[in-house]
Amino acid sequence: EAKQQGRQTQIYNPTLNEQLHRRMEIELHLRKAVEFGQLKLYYQPIVVTENARLVGMESLIRWFHPVLGTVSPGEFIPIAEETGLIVPIGRWVLEEACRQNKQWQDSGFTPIVISVNISSRQFYDPLFTESLVSLLHRTGLAPQWLELEITEGVMMDIHTALPILMDLQSLGVNLSIDDFGTGYSSLKYLKELPVGKLKIDQSFIKHIDTNAVHTAIVQSVLAMSKQIGLDVVAEGVERLEELAALRQSGCPFAQGYLFSHPVAADEAERLLSETRCK
Ligand code: C2E
Ligand code: CA
Ligand code: CA
Ligand code: CA
Repeated sequence: EAKQQGRQTQIYNPTLNEQLHRRMEIELHLRKAVEFGQLKLYYQPIVVTENARLVGMESLIRWFHPVLGTVSPGEFIPIAEETGLIVPIGRWVLEEACRQNKQWQDSGFTPIVISVNISSRQFYDPLFTESLVSLLHRTGLAPQWLELEITEGVMMDIHTALPILMDLQSLGVNLSIDDFGTGYSSLKYLKELPVGKLKIDQSFIKHIDTNAVHTAIVQSVLAMSKQIGLDVVAEGVERLEELAALRQSGCPFAQGYLFSHPVAADEAERLLSETRCK
């Protein structure tokens, strides 16, 4: 029996050790990532479904570390959230996104809305609204060109979330619910939230052209949104058939690899220049 336990230990421990080691390594290096300029924002177009006209960009963080290589946000954002590092990182993201959007506007591109992902830790930080005010002032970006993406999970406790959402709304920034459909939010709450947009999670958009259940879900979200006056973005549109199905359902906005992968600022600027106004 002892021998068997020994074997189990041998099989199990290295994996656990590796996981812990990786986590600690990420946490350690992440502390320096802002300071060392290793973080970059990428931008992914959000378009009008009907004609693919660009109306917005979602900013998505990228981390290039000299030794660790490229670490995906799917891996380091949860660690940043657990450790609280998301607060300084999130502050950097907001500043960079607003600065970039203002710079694009000053260069004469057709104004677009820049979307920024806000994690729970940031949203419930008592200084969040206040620092957003000074950030907008500092960068000179008008609040109507900024959108904050907040997941359903963050808004689940409506009594705590509502006053913060109201404060943000009164600043004039746009609010959207990210990954809609993956959380628990009751549809009847939507009417009471000062939110202007839903982003339907990509899991519902995948194969929407062939999956009758997904089609039904998306169509009912669209019908409900129309009724209460919400905009809708379909996330993760990858195939022409999916786009066709979304057009048929009347989904107003779309985002996904079919239009563009997230790209660096210079490439995003090239995409913007196709709708340049002066
Ligand atoms: P998200 O906010 O739901 O962002 C959409 C994710 O889907 C992005 O992954 C994007 O690259 C990917 N995506 C876009 N179009 C397609 C498509 O057509 N097909 C597929 N399969 N994927 C698509 P990414 O950039 O790896 O980000 C993952 C998550 O990390 C984000 O999910 C968001 O939750 C978080 N994240 C990224 N940047 C930030 C940030 O600046 N702050 C915070 N708090 N979270 C961030
Ligand atoms: Ca998002
Ligand atoms: Ca999303
Ligand atoms: Ca997500």
